[in-house]
Amino acid sequence: SDTNADANTDGDALRTPIVAVLGHVDHGKTTLLDRIRGSAVQEGEAGAITQHIGATAVPLETVSEMAGALVDPSDFDLPGLLFIDTPGHHSFSTLRARGGALADIAVLVVDVNDGFQPQTEEAIDILRRTGTPFVVAANKIDTTPGWNPQEDVPIQQSLEAQSDRAESRLNENLYELVGDLSDAGFSADFYWRVQDFQKNVGVVPLSAMTGEGVPDLLTVLMGLSQRYLKGEMAVDATGPGKGTVLEVKEERGFGATLDVVLYDGVIRIGETIVVGGQNEPIVTEVRALLQPRPNAEIRAEKRFETVEEVAAAAGVKIAAPDLDEAMAGAPVRVVRDRDVDEVVAEVREELAEIEVETAEDG
Ligand code: GDP
Repeated sequence: SDTNADANTDGDALRTPIVAVLGHVDHGKTTLLDRIRGSAVQEGEAGAITQHIGATAVPLETVSEMAGALVDPSDFDLPGLLFIDTPGHHSFSTLRARGGALADIAVLVVDVNDGFQPQTEEAIDILRRTGTPFVVAANKIDTTPGWNPQEDVPIQQSLEAQSDRAESRLNENLYELVGDLSDAGFSADFYWRVQDFQKNVGVVPLSAMTGEGVPDLLTVLMGLSQRYLKGEMAVDATGPGKGTVLEVKEERGFGATLDVVLYDGVIRIGETIVVGGQNEPIVTEVRALLQPRPNAEIRAEKRFETVEEVAAAAGVKIAAPDLDEAMAGAPVRVVRDRDVDEVVAEVREELAEIEVETAEDG
């Protein structure tokens, strides 16, 4: 019964949206990602959160556990969210996929006391240029004078526990942030007042430190993805893998390896891949696919476990010969049943686009 028709229907799937977290240094990107990872682990579902190479996968069930009453899982059919681990804003600008941004959606983290800073402006420029939908995490609300911290609760619940004075102090900062966004050309509002997220940027007040407001952020990201990105998330789950190189890294025993975010299809051990290189596209064969070992041991050689195949969206380390000249930001393509020259031409074309843009940036 393995007809072509069957294969096609079986292959249709909705992949996980890829989320990037950007913002000025020290505004709390790392703390926010740690909090999302940490709270999800606390929710009990051991292993529900999976650490990928360069990314963290938060499945829908975990989002809904964390978000409690804010999320009804039956409203969603996307599988969850894949957070790319805080790439510096420079590398983010080169993280492309098929001429668009690798991230489907972004979180712009802004310290609510500090407001817009140079790297906030740069991040906003990149988001505008790549047309990436985003929400603003107005972070560090717990530093508002007189704040009464409420661990991990939705923002409305936290606001109910605050004095009028603390709440109005926070509001002053939030309105200033809304003003900064407006100066940057984005009409923005508190997220619970936003009707149309395609016209208005939602601001989510939160604390990466105490976790209050984090359920709201996950809910908004899930809702936005479901509503506006669902069409783009429909992929051929078994098609030839497509990804973007995050980093080229030497690994003991493997030589040069690629940390890749796979955004489409599947990649398997032994498959021929084409990777963007410093001079020419590199054609090579996947020797190993590596994922972080759960509860990673300290000894370097035990950090990874090998897997047979990886399906989008996911982060994965690829070990293969001849990767020394591979480049961060470059495309990776599984050849599968196609003509290798065709795929090489495709990769060359995409590299040319990236180079044009990098030149324009510089
Ligand atoms: P990054 O450079 O954007 O990754 O920022 P970090 O996550 O490293 O945070 C910078 C500093 O701000 C660290 O000392 C964090 O502990 C602190 N920080 C981050 N988020 C919060 C928050 O919500 N509340 C408070 N009080 N401190 C925070």
